[in-house]
Formats: sequence, C-alpha cells, structure tokens
Amino acid sequence: MFARIKKSGRHEYLQIVANHKERGKVRQQVIATLGRMDEMRAKGRIETLIRSLARFSQAPPGEAQGGQPSAAWLRKTIQDYVAGAPENRMGTQGAEPIFDSPLVGFSNGADPLYDEYVRHIGAFYMTPRAIFRRAFPEAGEVEAEELTVVSWILPSTAATRGDHAAESRTPCERWARTRHFGEKVNDALRRQVVQCLFERGIPAVAPVLAPFWSRSDQGLWAPCSNWSERHAAYAAGLGTFGLCDGLITPVGKAIRSGSVVMRLRLPPTPRPYRDRHAYCLFFSRGTCGKCIPRCPAGALSHAGHDKQRCLQYTEKAMNAYLKTRFGIDTYACGLCQTGVPCTDHIPRPEEGE
Ligand code: SF4
Ligand code: SF4
Repeated sequence: MFARIKKSGRHEYLQIVANHKERGKVRQQVIATLGRMDEMRAKGRIETLIRSLARFSQAPPGEAQGGQPSAAWLRKTIQDYVAGAPENRMGTQGAEPIFDSPLVGFSNGADPLYDEYVRHIGAFYMTPRAIFRRAFPEAGEVEAEELTVVSWILPSTAATRGDHAAESRTPCERWARTRHFGEKVNDALRRQVVQCLFERGIPAVAPVLAPFWSRSDQGLWAPCSNWSERHAAYAAGLGTFGLCDGLITPVGKAIRSGSVVMRLRLPPTPRPYRDRHAYCLFFSRGTCGKCIPRCPAGALSHAGHDKQRCLQYTEKAMNAYLKTRFGIDTYACGLCQTGVPCTDHIPRPEEGE
C-alpha cells in the first residue's frame, strides 16, 4: 500500500492505493482519497496523518529493526550526524553550525524520472542502476527496483542567509565558508551514510565521491555532471527547480544537497508536485523574477540561467576574490539564492508581486 497524487481537473488529490494482481497483471485500487493536496498542505494535515500513523509503527525511528535499516532510521542517522558532526562548524567564533537540520527523502532506482534524465541531459548521465553496477561489478545482475536513492538537503543558517542577502556583488564570509567547508561536511555525511549501510550488510555508493563521477562538456546543458544531487532530490520529492536552476525546497534554495545509492528497498517519498518548476513563481504564475536583478554577472533573465556566464563569474572572478578577501581557495556566488522570496521557504503567490 502506498500514497500517490492524482490530478483531476485543476487540482491534485492525495490517495492511498494498493497493488493487486488480476490475471497476472498488476492493478492499482484506490483505498481512499484523503483530500486536496493544496488544502491538506495549508492545514498541515499530511504531517498530522504521519504522526498519527507513526503511533502504530513497530519500528522505532532510532533503530534499524532486525539489522534492516528503515527509512526512519536512515533519516535519523543523517539528522543526528549533521547535528553532532565536528565538521559542521563555521570556524569563525564559538560552535556556530554551518547547516541546520537536513531534510531527507527517498526515490526508487526504477523511478521513470531517472531514464527521463538520461534522455533529457545526455547518454553520459547515469541512472542509479548504472551507478550501482559500476561501483559493484561483482554483484552481477541488479534490478533497478532493488535500489533506493536517499537524498538530503542541508539548509544554510539564518545568519548566513541574512549576511548574504545584504551583499550585492560578492559573497559574504559565511556564504564562502558554507560553500567550502560545508561541502566537506556534505562529503563526510556521504561517507558516513555509506559506512552505516555497509555495517548492516547493505552495499551503497555516494555517486559524487565515486571515481567515475565526472563533469561533461557534452549535451544541451553542458557543462554538467553525470550525476546531479539536485535532480536526485527532485525525484525524492524534496523540491523543484527555480528560474536560476537552484532547487526550491520547503527550507528554500540556499542549500547544499547530497545522495547515496543503496541496494535496499525503502518506500519512496511522495512527490507533492508534477512539474519541475512547480514552486517557482516565475514559471507557475508568471510573476516574481526577483532573482534576476540579484545576479551581478547578468547570467539570469526571463530566458533562464546562462550557465557559462554564471561559471565565468563564480569559478574565475569569485575564486580570485575569495582567496584574497577571506583566504579561502574556493568558488562561490549564490547571490540569486538569497534576498528573494524562495530563500528559506516555498514562496507564497503574493510574494511574487
Ligand atoms: S526568486 Fe522568484 S523567479 Fe527566482 S527562482 Fe525564486 S520564485 Fe523563481
Ligand atoms: S550564482 Fe551568481 S552568477 Fe550565477 S546566476 Fe546566481 S547570482 Fe548569477
């Protein structure tokens, strides 16, 4: 039994559905239609339902039952790690963290979105199955359905977002530190998740740490890598893309993201959207565009995000600036990610006016 979204007319409805076999074919039967998604979200009814169902679960969220990791256990493992990780420190004064508590979501390896990414981005792009087979050639045949991708969103802090929103041409120090040292937290988390799963007999790989992860200059969207953390997070129901290509999540788009592919079936997180731009007011309502004037490089317009112009600014001009200004050899910009309606939440329609 699982939850799904059904579109009818102008609205989307949350349903509980069960699979059953009829003359050898899998059929889906609607057990209940729980309500309209927009109304349920607005009234917090989904969270209430989750809390209510959790009371009957036999699997304590803090443990892997019978040695088999559950989604709740993995979510807690990730959140606990970020809360206690010695790497998660801004390094300026006191114990100021780089990231707040992460959001975690799951997608199945057979999710049709992954094949769609290959068709859309290019043949060099890897599905979870291709990644797993490359990482574990000795495992032999592995079906895509056997795999789960766990994705997480690491939200920047209010202090970082506030400092950065006050800048108009160059990154503030907290932002530069989040980009540089925060990615080290992200790498440590990737390794930690892989290790925790290995200890429980679950083979797992962090695609961006694998030796075969690479950037490509091929295809319509070049340069891009053969695995995108943001696209995995989109598949896991964690957010949709904005005009500037950033991922707008329930905690906004001033974030970093990560993922691990594992040979374990966990229930996928429902995607509360159908369109890849659903949360961006420019695409969904024809308003906003407030990230455009935030870009000091002229890389944003109503036509979208000019990646080459953005990279020239972030990887060249800002690398030189950050080395001189803060002594950090990194590249960063992200001015389009703060001081806008989608900085720290899914923007409300009136915020685009
Ligand atoms: S600032 Fe507005 S137009 Fe830009 S990504 Fe956010 S919602 Fe979309
Ligand atoms: S990251 Fe900087 S250069 Fe790139 S689009 Fe955003 S504001 Fe412009």
